[in-house]
Amino acid sequence: MHIPERMCIACRQMKPKSELIRIVKNGGEVALDMRQKLGGRGAYICKNEECITSAKKRRALSKHFKTAVDDKIYDTAKAVTAGE
Ligand SMILES: [Zn+2]
Repeated sequence: MHIPERMCIACRQMKPKSELIRIVKNGGEVALDMRQKLGGRGAYICKNEECITSAKKRRALSKHFKTAVDDKIYDTAKAVTAGE
C-alpha cells in the first residue's frame, strides 16, 4: 500500500503524514490543521519539539507561505505534540 509522505519544513525529511503536523494557509489565515482535512496551501512539520523549535527559529512557516506568521502557532503546535 502506498503511504503518502510529505516533507518536514524544518529537517527536510520525508515522513508519513501521520508523523507530521499539517499547517494550512487559507485566505489570509495560517492555522493548524489537526485533522489534515482543511483546504488551502499546506506545510508539514514533524511532531517533535526539535523540528518545531527549529522551524520557529528560522521562521520557516513565514518563508513557506511568504507571509507573516505569528510565533504563537509554533507554541500551539508544541503544546499539541506534547499532549499526544
Ligand atoms: Zn522534521
